[in-house]
Parts: sequence; structure tokens; C-alpha cells
Amino acid sequence: MTTESTTELAQPAGLDSTAAVAAAAAAAADVDREARFPHEAVAAMRAAGLLSASLPADLGGRSASITELAHVARKLGAACSSAGMVFAMHHTQALSLRFHATEGPVAALTRRIAETEALLASSTTEITTGGDTGSSTCAVVPDGDAIVLEKNAPVISYGAYADYICTTARRSAESPPTDQVLVLCPQDETELEQTSQWDTLGFRGTCSPGFLLRTRTSPDHVVPVPYSTISAHTMLPSSHTLWGSVWLGIADAAVDKARVQVRSAARRTPGQTPPQAAKLADLLVLHQRFESSVATELRRYEDFLASGEDEPTIGFAIAMNNLKLDTSLAVVDVVAGALALTGINGYREDHAASMGRLLRDAYGPQVMVSNDRIRANNSKLVLAYRGRA
Ligand SMILES: Cc1cc2nc3c(=O)[nH]c(=O)nc-3n(C[C@H](O)[C@H](O)[C@H](O)COP(=O)(O)OP(=O)(O)OC[C@H]3O[C@@H](n4cnc5c(N)ncnc54)[C@H](O)[C@@H]3O)c2cc1C
Repeated sequence: MTTESTTELAQPAGLDSTAAVAAAAAAAADVDREARFPHEAVAAMRAAGLLSASLPADLGGRSASITELAHVARKLGAACSSAGMVFAMHHTQALSLRFHATEGPVAALTRRIAETEALLASSTTEITTGGDTGSSTCAVVPDGDAIVLEKNAPVISYGAYADYICTTARRSAESPPTDQVLVLCPQDETELEQTSQWDTLGFRGTCSPGFLLRTRTSPDHVVPVPYSTISAHTMLPSSHTLWGSVWLGIADAAVDKARVQVRSAARRTPGQTPPQAAKLADLLVLHQRFESSVATELRRYEDFLASGEDEPTIGFAIAMNNLKLDTSLAVVDVVAGALALTGINGYREDHAASMGRLLRDAYGPQVMVSNDRIRANNSKLVLAYRGRA
């Protein structure tokens, strides 16, 4: 039997995240305290080619698998959850390009994004529609040989730092709210008027205030596939698997801190098992269930991608929604359990065992597209579903 941590993961062959994880960990406390962008970690991601990793190899990326990306997201999440969320959110957009923007004029843009290690943000929610990402009020409007788009976005993570903001909008001013497209708004052709602050409980380094976004860009920047297809095939499953992996990283960090505390208690009472050890054993049950849930759904998504199908089944959509519901609650349970185990040291802000940042971050997942919205979507899906999710 070895004494290795259950949270250790093998480094995926193609993606070396060592420097990015180290940079993220070193700056995590300051990023949280100052609610500032984790620029050191993102610079290290760029330097290691991690931002282009999910883009297609024949357009300058590395066609990394969702499982490889999830490994890195988890490591980053354990080091600094804001840096992890930036990585995860970026790749949900990059994967959308990989699967839906490789042909026609938009392919040149995908290549440029890969070659420049560009950072992609997303604006899917809107003041008028809240977390209902499947409908938009704003619309793409032709303007000479360009298009214009104006969106009132309640939240755009790292919007001020991104090279492109991938924005959902109605296809045209005449289109119904659900007939949406995805538009890549380049930083140098987009005006961002900040409309709110980002002074939040957790995920403070994602720097996600509201913006009035105005862009005038080329019609080639509209992804030529309906957003409903992009969402079902890529955006929703990649978000829920990669976000869940970051949140699992938060749980890893909490368990690792708890383990150090239990070992230190054991050293103080040689020959006796400290009472905290039983709590740690219980905590590992929750953690293992969390890990299994992410691993199972990653496999499900890999299988779906390998099938080459365009449209996932209803059962797949429910499973991906369940992953988000499950992991967004599991992360709170694990961190809260770790806090109960570490006692006053975990409660202190100035102790190595502090759970403060992890606990605050752990409450973000439930509102990051409200769980109530996801339950409401599931309640519609189950009416048409005859299998077992
Ligand atoms: C850290 C973080 C980063 C984010 N980054 C981005 C980003 O980069 N880009 C982006 O577009 N968005 C992002 N979001 C998501 C965005 O903040 C919210 O999903 C969006 O602003 C909606 O906010 P809301 O929860 O107030 O609105 P709503 O979704 O309207 O929810 C408001 C309330 O209404 C209730 N509710 C709504 N609908 C239902 C229903 N059908 N049934 C029952 N109850 C319901 C919910 O319980 C909720 O309490 C991010 C969120 C977080 C936490």
C-alpha cells in the first residue's frame, strides 16, 4: 500500500501545465484578495501553448481531448479556482470553434486564434433573459459590408482581458429569440462599457462585471452553425465537464489541507488514531463519489464525440445537466466537510489550512447559470425521455 494522495493525477502526455499550475498557486491568495485577473497563470498558459490546445491540429492547435483538458482544469482549480475557471471557460469557446468553425471564411479566424494563443471569453447571458442562454434579445444587424451587434451583458468573465468575446445573439432583427448565432467579437473592434462591479463572494479573479458590448466586425466572424447545435453538441457538455473538473480541483485542495491536519494530529498522539481520521474517511467517500461522477460524464462525452453524431440524445443532455447540478453541490459538501474536520485552523484566514477562499469559491457553481434554470430545463426534457438517466 502506498501513502500517495488519491487526488494525484498523471500529467496528460501532450499538455504540460506544470508552470501554469505553479504560477496560479503562487498568485491565488492575491488574486482572490484583490479580485484581480490571474495574469501570471494566463501568461504561463500562453507560453505553454495551453490556450490553443483544444483547437484543431490542422489549424494550428493540438486537438487535445476533453479528458486532457479536464486534467489540466482540475490541477488549475486546485491551485487557483479563478485561473481554473478562466482556462475552462476559454476552452468551452475554443471547442465550439474546433467543432463548428473549421470550414468557410471563419476557418481563417480559428487558425489566427490558434496561432496567436488568443484568449476567448463568452457572453451568453443577457440582462433581459438572465441565465436562459437559449434565447437572446440582441440581434446581428448588417451595416454596409460589416455587421453590428449591441448586447447588455450582466456578466462577462475576464471580458476586459480577452482577445475575443464569443457572443450569442439573434440571427437577425427579424429572428425569434431562440434563433441564435455565435459571433466572435474581436477586442479591437469591440467597445465594452462597464455597467457593474465584480466584488463577489468567490471566483473573484474571474473579473466578471457587466458590460454593454458594442461591436462592428466582419460577417465572417459569425459561426455558420445554429447556436442551438453548438450549445447541445459542445458548449453545454464541455462547460459542465470542464467546470466540474475545476470544482473537483477545489475539492482536491480542501481534502489535501484536511489530510495534512489529520496527519499532524496523528503525530501528536502516537499509537492512537485521532478522531478526525474517521471524519477524513467519511470525507473521502464524498470526494470519491464526486471524482467518479466527473470521470463517468467525461467518458460519456468522449463516447458521444467519438460517435461522430451531430445531435446528442435527450438522455445525454439530462446526464450533462445532472453533472452540473451534482458537482455544484458536491463541491460545497466536500469543502464544508473539510472545514469541520480542520476546526479553528480551517476557520482562520491566516493559516495554511484555511478553507475561506475554497468555501467562498464553492458557492459560485450553483449560480453560474442558476441550478433552478437547469432543473427547469431537465423537467421539460424528462417528459420526452423514456430511458433511465
Ligand atoms: C463566476 C461566474 C462567472 C460567470 N461568467 C459568465 C460569463 O462569462 N458569461 C456569461 O454570459 N455568463 C456568466 N455567468 C453567468 C451569469 O452570471 C448568470 O447566469 C446570469 O447573469 C444570470 O443571472 P441570475 O442568476 O441573476 O439570473 P437568472 O438565471 O434569471 O436567475 C435569477 C433567479 O431566478 C431563479 N430562476 C430563474 N429561472 C428559473 C426557473 N425557470 N425556475 C425556477 N427559478 C428560476 C433562480 O433561482 C435565480 O435565483 C457567470 C456566473 C458566475 C457565478
